Amino acid sequence: MKFLLISISFLFWIQLKAQDTFIIKDVKIFDGEEVLKNTSVKIEGDKIVAIDEGLQVDAGTQVIDGRGKTLIPALSNAHVHVWSPLSLNQAAKAGVLNVMDMHGIENFQQGMKKLKDSTNFARYYVAGYAATAPEGHGTQFGFPVPTLDGPEDAAEFVEGRVKSEVDYIKIIVEPYKNTLSHETVAEIIKEAHNKGLKSVVHVSRLEDGLNVLENNANGLVHIWWDKTVDEETLNRLSNTKRFFIIPTLLTTLKAFDNIGEASKEFLTKKQLLSEVRKLHQADIPILAGTDPPNLGINYGTDLYEELFLFKEAGLSNLEILKTATSNIADAFELKKAGYIRKNYKADLLLINGDPTENIEDISNIEMIWKAGDQVEVD
Ligand SMILES: [Zn+2]
Repeated sequence: MKFLLISISFLFWIQLKAQDTFIIKDVKIFDGEEVLKNTSVKIEGDKIVAIDEGLQVDAGTQVIDGRGKTLIPALSNAHVHVWSPLSLNQAAKAGVLNVMDMHGIENFQQGMKKLKDSTNFARYYVAGYAATAPEGHGTQFGFPVPTLDGPEDAAEFVEGRVKSEVDYIKIIVEPYKNTLSHETVAEIIKEAHNKGLKSVVHVSRLEDGLNVLENNANGLVHIWWDKTVDEETLNRLSNTKRFFIIPTLLTTLKAFDNIGEASKEFLTKKQLLSEVRKLHQADIPILAGTDPPNLGINYGTDLYEELFLFKEAGLSNLEILKTATSNIADAFELKKAGYIRKNYKADLLLINGDPTENIEDISNIEMIWKAGDQVEVD
C-alpha cells in the first residue's frame, strides 16, 4: 500500500514537472503592439500566465536570463503553399509558427493540419482549393481543381470548401489566363461571408485590386504590379472598407528578376516599396508573406528578407514586427496568438539583440517556444 502511494505521488510529480513552468527574467519585450522594457514573463504549461517587472521567482522554477535579449511573439507567414510536413518543420525552426496556405490539395492539407499541436511544426491554416476560372491561373500545377464558370457556381464552390473545413476562401483574378469575372468574385465573397469565412484575392493589376476591395474582399495576397495607386483613391477606399494587404515583395522582385527585360513594363522596386509605404500611411494593415516554394523561396528564414524590404519601404521597426505577428493574428483571427499577453499561447522567440532597434537582429533567434515547449533547432 505504501509503495502504491509513493508510486502515485511520484507519477503526480512527473506530471507537474512535465507541465513546465519557467520564467524569462529581465527581458525587453515587443508584445505585438508596444515595447516593455526590463520585465519578466512567466510561462505555465502552454500559456503565458504573468507579465510583470517584479515577478516572484519561486525556488525550483527554471529561470532564463533575458538581459541583453528581446522576447517577441512567434512569427507568422501569411502566404505559403505547403506540399510536405518538412516545410512546416523548416518554418518552425526559423520561429515561424503559423502559416497560411493559399492554394493546394485539400486531402494533403487535412493531414498536415493535424500537426497543429506538434512542437516542431508550424500550425497550418488553409484555403483549400483557390477559386479560379476553367484553365485559369491555379489549374496548371498538375492536380485537378474545381473551377467556376460564373456567379451561379459561387454557392456550390464555397459549400465545397466548407465541407473540406478550410479556414478562409482564396480567389484568383489573373488576366494573363482565363479569369473569373468581377461579378463572380463578388458572389464568391458574399457566399464566403455568409458562411463566416474571410476571402482573400490574388491580383496582379491595380484595377482588379480596387475592384475586389470595393466588393468587400478582406485582403489581397499580392500587391499589384502594373500601376501606382493615387493617394486620394487609396484614402477613400481605406475610409470606407476594412482590408489588409500581403504585398509579397520578395516574391514579386524575384519574379521580376526571373522574367528579365519583360519586367520593364511593370513597376520598379522603388515604386513597389513606395506603394507599400502609401498603404501603410493610409492605415491599411500590411502582412508579411513570401509565397514559398515559388521562386525557390524557403519556408523559414526568407521571411526575414520580406521584413528587411519593409524596412526599405520606410516602415518603423515596430510596424515591421507587427506585419509578421499581431497583424496576421488580427487579420485571420488566430486565437490567443500574435501577442505576448496573459492567457495567450506561449508562442515565443527569445532574440539575442534587439529587433525593435535593429530589425536585422530578427536573424539572431536563440530559443523558440511553441505552446510553451521548446522547438528543436539544429
Ligand atoms: Zn501563392
